[in-house]
Amino acid sequence: MQKYDVAIVGGGAAGLTCALTLARRRKDISVAVIDKNERLGKKLAATGNGQGNVSNLALSPENYHGGGAAAAFKTIGGDVRLPERLFNCLFEADGEGRIYPAGRQASALTDSLLFELSALGVTLLHPLSVTGIERGFALTLSDGRTLRARNVVLACGGSAQKQFGTDGSSYALAQSLGHKLMPLSPSLVQLRTDTAHIRSLKGIRVQSAVTASVGGRLLGSATGDVIFTDYGLSGNAIFKLSSVLAGVSGAVVTLSFLPGVEEEAVRRDVAAKAALGYPRSELLSGTLHNQLGRAIIKRAGPETCDIARTVKNFTLPVTGTLGFDSAQVTHGGVDCADIGDDMQSKLVRGLYLVGEYVDVDGDCGGYNLLWAFASGVRAANAICDQL
Ligand SMILES: Cc1cc2nc3c(=O)[nH]c(=O)nc-3n(C[C@H](O)[C@H](O)[C@H](O)COP(=O)(O)OP(=O)(O)OC[C@H]3O[C@@H](n4cnc5c(N)ncnc54)[C@H](O)[C@@H]3O)c2cc1C
Repeated sequence: MQKYDVAIVGGGAAGLTCALTLARRRKDISVAVIDKNERLGKKLAATGNGQGNVSNLALSPENYHGGGAAAAFKTIGGDVRLPERLFNCLFEADGEGRIYPAGRQASALTDSLLFELSALGVTLLHPLSVTGIERGFALTLSDGRTLRARNVVLACGGSAQKQFGTDGSSYALAQSLGHKLMPLSPSLVQLRTDTAHIRSLKGIRVQSAVTASVGGRLLGSATGDVIFTDYGLSGNAIFKLSSVLAGVSGAVVTLSFLPGVEEEAVRRDVAAKAALGYPRSELLSGTLHNQLGRAIIKRAGPETCDIARTVKNFTLPVTGTLGFDSAQVTHGGVDCADIGDDMQSKLVRGLYLVGEYVDVDGDCGGYNLLWAFASGVRAANAICDQL
């Protein structure tokens, strides 16, 4: 079988943008992308509810988690507009700074990459899995063939949502070459909670400030949509918070409804309704969704101040998450201590590890794709400089 200058294992966001950067910079090198899916870039085409939230104008070190978080922020280097140079389309930001393709179609991102990669002569091998790797490099393929390469980029993604080809089994490739794996847990995921006080609220969506704590220690906070479900909580604020709950047990979330309203104002509102003779169950009528108001009143003590306090401090013990099958991203991954700034392995020369595969995960809002693109581009530039 032909020997390639670069073999990229995984044709997702990181692998495809790595291939694109290599092919744009160097017409004289041979590049192959191997992916187990029928369609390359399958997950990329499903991101952002099908709209593809590729980056975010508001970028800070706090947006990244895991052992490689600080290095990831450095690698991105504030270049939140990187997608504009990678994709052949226009982008726009929404009111919250989230950047999307102007056509709001994530599948167009995949199409743009595949069109240009084919035009540039990159070899696309799919559906094919890489089942083994030996130094040198020799890659064993699922059809029994061996592919040889001078450089290998492992861009295999994580463990989240196995229907996209990411079931976590490919960590074994890096491990077989001596790399360590940091513990994995699902992130950007719905939370399972005690449901005793929220059973009647299924499907209700509210704006809320949410904090997570364990043993009285604050782990994190977020503000946004919260959706009540039959298992617990979903919504943007919960997704954001789930990253700080990865691997934590015994945590509690506290919902503070009406985030822009002081507790004292709620107390006055409840007292005014009580003075007018409203039935107790309706004392939050018009202030909160009726069902939510009634659930809060049922839980609160007898005084109006108890009701106001419960509106601002509605606690629910966290019992778990919906797991990897529902998570958008994996917390944990290949230990970044063994990976250099150029994404090259410190253990095996010519081996590069990028994207969600390594111990970096980002917040909801375009940060994970931005990391996938930035790390793929960084590896490609390092390879071009060395070849
Ligand atoms: C439903 C959903 C929506 C999301 N929305 C957003 C969003 O809007 N914005 C955002 O920033 N992030 C979003 N994310 C997260 C983001 O998509 C990922 O973090 C990002 O795609 C990771 O890129 P990657 O290239 O590292 O891995 P992936 O995109 O997961 O690609 C890895 C690829 O490797 C292939 N592969 C794995 N092992 C092998 C093997 N042994 N041989 C061959 N091929 C292999 C897989 O088939 C897969 O195609 C979303 C995730 C999900 C699941």
